[in-house]
Amino acid sequence: MGAVVWGFAMIWPAARGQQAAQESHGVVVGNMDPAVKPGDDFFRYCNGAWLARTEIPADRGSVGAFLTLRDKSDQRVNELVEDAAKANAAPGTNKRKIADLFHSYMDEAGIEAKGIAPLEPHLKEIAAIQDKKALAFALGKTLRADVDALNNTNFHTANLFGLWVAPGFNDSEHYAAYLMQGGLQLPDREYYTGQSERMKNVRTAYQAHVAAMLKLAGFSDSEARAAKIVALEHAIAEKHRTLADNENIHNANNPWKRTEFAAKAPGLDWAEYFRGAGLEKQESFIVWQPDAFAGESALVASEPLEAWKDFLAYRVIEAYGGVLPKALADERFAFFGKTLQGTTEQRPRWSRAVTMVNVWLGDAVGQMYAKQYFPPESKARLEKMVANIEEAFRKRIDALTWMDPATKAEAKAKLSTLYVGIGYTEHWQDYSAYEIKADDIFGNLWRGSLFVYHRETGFLGKPVDRHEWSMTPQTVNAVNLPLQNAMNFPAAILEPPFFDAKAPDAFNYGAIGAVIGHEVSHTFDEEGAAFDSKGRVRNWWTPADMAHFEASTNKLAEQYDTYKPFPDLALNGKQTLNENIADVAGIAASYDAYHAALGGKAAPEQAGFTGDQQFFLAYGQTRAGKPREGALRLQVMTDPHAPSEYRTDTVRNIDAWYPAFQVKEGEKLYLSPAERVRIW
Ligand SMILES: [Zn+2]
Repeated sequence: MGAVVWGFAMIWPAARGQQAAQESHGVVVGNMDPAVKPGDDFFRYCNGAWLARTEIPADRGSVGAFLTLRDKSDQRVNELVEDAAKANAAPGTNKRKIADLFHSYMDEAGIEAKGIAPLEPHLKEIAAIQDKKALAFALGKTLRADVDALNNTNFHTANLFGLWVAPGFNDSEHYAAYLMQGGLQLPDREYYTGQSERMKNVRTAYQAHVAAMLKLAGFSDSEARAAKIVALEHAIAEKHRTLADNENIHNANNPWKRTEFAAKAPGLDWAEYFRGAGLEKQESFIVWQPDAFAGESALVASEPLEAWKDFLAYRVIEAYGGVLPKALADERFAFFGKTLQGTTEQRPRWSRAVTMVNVWLGDAVGQMYAKQYFPPESKARLEKMVANIEEAFRKRIDALTWMDPATKAEAKAKLSTLYVGIGYTEHWQDYSAYEIKADDIFGNLWRGSLFVYHRETGFLGKPVDRHEWSMTPQTVNAVNLPLQNAMNFPAAILEPPFFDAKAPDAFNYGAIGAVIGHEVSHTFDEEGAAFDSKGRVRNWWTPADMAHFEASTNKLAEQYDTYKPFPDLALNGKQTLNENIADVAGIAASYDAYHAALGGKAAPEQAGFTGDQQFFLAYGQTRAGKPREGALRLQVMTDPHAPSEYRTDTVRNIDAWYPAFQVKEGEKLYLSPAERVRIW
């Protein structure tokens, strides 16, 4: 299942793209190298001058459009938040909430003056736990909507378990409650069980850090307590499924009735747990990792109450450490920032405050962002492009010779129910129930996590809104939501070099059009075959379709096997096959859609380039990227996406590319018509 690899759920990995700064609209002539023959090296023909003048920043492994656009979006969000902070808006308005949240984070003096007082009521509550029944209730109270298996793909929660509310695997018309394993503060089980020197060192540093945090929060015997907490986490880690297992949705579809938990996962008092979580009326759940639930539940029974109480106390201290006095915040950064991630310096406080506002009031910021930076004309134009691209796919599916008629019908049904969200959501989040105070950052975050939890649990059992977004407009990314048969393209990625409202159609179809086409093709390819037109988990391909598909795609795998970025390292055509297929499909469908949009008229020239030339140049320029050798080697070995150079050169499979650039036999990228791969 592909949604869990970044190429499917997260369309733009950080390593590709190109510099966005440009004055002209459409193809950036100044980025090209006209001395290179397009038929020999299309990537350098499109991007040679850019490659020659672009330096990779010292703290980055590569440079490309993704990072440049992220800087641009951050800059805009900073300005919006700063404006809101100065506006003195009326209480209760989104603008005021943004201002108050921002100021509460910036109020370092107030945070120091309060000390650990904000923690105390929570620590007292934990200290008062007398037995395992009360423990189960307290553990239930920690459940939050903080995991996400398929959309934004996050399997980590430090709480005992995590909740994800999403369309049901077995009833995709209604929201279901997915429960996931949790309980680890470190990112993954590997950090507890791994035997490398690096992992061993991380564990030693981690235990010292837990002790330090407990001590700063006023606990006695902090070292002995820390040892027990880490031992308990280690025991939990051994019950956990691995990341690779988590990604297999076919192991995850385990519906349990609420009343079955006690028998299926004995140990934890489940009735109390669900009461604590406010889910005592929820009839059924989908348990992602049943063995981990049985294992973790058994540990609640077998391990001492005191260890669990310290586990709970440490959870609160750690979760809020960043907004407690400097001593705690610094200790937290020293471990999670420096030791774990290798960051040497903390970002300035104002910048972290902006991030915080973006996280907790994302739609409030996003609404202002969309208004200022994404005009309705852009949205309308892109929606028209999407309709044309879908129509191009419809025609291509009809023309396929290898696909069974029943499979074709389902592919077209899936296409007709597909929701492609452009720019921003149609229903903005209502924050009126989220109380924010200008002098209470701890409370603001505490209430924020509860606000999200109550919002998400409020969806349970209700009909699915397939138009619901899972990304804010200011996010530089795009997402495929397989259970909703939907995808979101936020405003912040609909910027040059991907989309330019002032550029001709030829440019936009070659750039963002090919990206949209790539994603649309995933909804009915081998990955999309796992979900039907209603988002249900059901393989709707026939075995014969699968066999034909594999035979016709082998040729593309072989083509990519021949690419060698280094004398000792070639691409793996099989590893990158799904993404390469989607690239060919995306360009082909967007090219058809572009010509349909022209409606037989001649395309306007830009800088002397014909419409078809602009289309392919725009595609090539979205792919400009410059990785360091280490980053490139890592990508070749582990990434399901081919490096940008070879993704650009895939235009050699498209017939129209040849006459557009007079590509002739004998040139390096030339393929005879029989060698060109056509899949969709
Ligand atoms: Zn893809």
